[in-house]
Amino acid sequence: MIKALRGMKDLTFEESERFVHIVTTATTIAKRYGYSYIETPILEETKLFKRSVGESSDIVGKEMYQFEDKGGNDVCMRPEGTAGVVRSFVQAKLDRRQNEKFKFYYYGPMFRYERPQKGRLREFHQFGCESFGEASVYEDFTIIQMIGDIFKALGIGYKLKINSLGCPECMPPYRQNLVEFLTECKDELCEDCNRRIETNPIRVLDCKNEKCQSLLVNSPKLIKNLCSSCDDDFAKLERLLKSENIEYELDTNLVRGLDYYSKTAFEFVSNEIGSQSAIAGGGRYDRLVEFLDGKSTPAVGFALGIERIMELVKMPEVKRSGYYLGAMDEEAIDSLFPLASKKRDTEKVTVEYAPKKLKAHLKNADRVNARYCAVIGEDEFKDRTIWIKDLVEKKEVVVAWEEL
Ligand SMILES: [Zn+2]
Ligand SMILES: [Zn+2]
Repeated sequence: MIKALRGMKDLTFEESERFVHIVTTATTIAKRYGYSYIETPILEETKLFKRSVGESSDIVGKEMYQFEDKGGNDVCMRPEGTAGVVRSFVQAKLDRRQNEKFKFYYYGPMFRYERPQKGRLREFHQFGCESFGEASVYEDFTIIQMIGDIFKALGIGYKLKINSLGCPECMPPYRQNLVEFLTECKDELCEDCNRRIETNPIRVLDCKNEKCQSLLVNSPKLIKNLCSSCDDDFAKLERLLKSENIEYELDTNLVRGLDYYSKTAFEFVSNEIGSQSAIAGGGRYDRLVEFLDGKSTPAVGFALGIERIMELVKMPEVKRSGYYLGAMDEEAIDSLFPLASKKRDTEKVTVEYAPKKLKAHLKNADRVNARYCAVIGEDEFKDRTIWIKDLVEKKEVVVAWEEL
């Protein structure tokens, strides 16, 4: 028997219902906020991710589904969605239309070659949005509001964490201060963090090691060293969140660790699956378009993890719906099809192709969760009528075929 690859799984029945419900809900809300769908290829040149996700990241360093194709190109299955969208944005020369705004949403599979463990798949799915051309912090707020709307519609509780990552003016001097602080306590930091001091010191802030975290309590904080523009924007964001009653907490260790990220960073976490699992994250990345050879364009976006949300979503109650059509004699079966075709204009219809006794039909109708079980028996066939039972109201009627 051939099985699915390790870390990859099929979705069927209840699970695929959850999946579709999440994507449909998120799509509906993204459209209300003015986003249009973008579909980009799953396979891209490896250098796209090296440049956008960053060579120092674990994703690029260890987890990429990277291979050489038959033409000798170094390619990679996308590990996340933003890079492809930005690549497409630059390729379509949308970066040259500087006074316009572009908003895209996407969803689909992402691939990371991780050691499979609970809650981590090698093929997983994300829904995300990217907004280009809007530098205002109002857009950051609007995106946070939109994610809040999505979780509300899905019946999911969350905690919002926010931080500011500064800008090219205030981040470099802060980084310098941080490196000095980290160098002093170097010996007590974990091995990874020791490497990060050189390669990516900001990433030390979100090290999961408890010892590192306890040392960081006294580290310099960027939020207290923002330039006036970043400080004003962060204050404005807090004011907007408060005025809309969106609860949040400041998390100074919430960082993204790549140079093109700036200002607002946020994460939605849930306490229902493990401790504080991130269910969505995003922020402003004003310099990524430039990083990928485009004209400097402000941008902000987020992605949410569909698999994690599948564990949390409250599914709407599935109600009985539509018709089940059957006949008790072989000769009546042909007559079911015109009736089914007519009903399918508006309703779900299941047709049973084999003649059966009434009791068997009722059982089948129940199994497909039909609201109405409609059966043509011997008398009904002669009279060109059909017997219908409403399985909710428990009422029975006989109607002419034309009146179904
Ligand atoms: Zn700044
Ligand atoms: Zn560490």
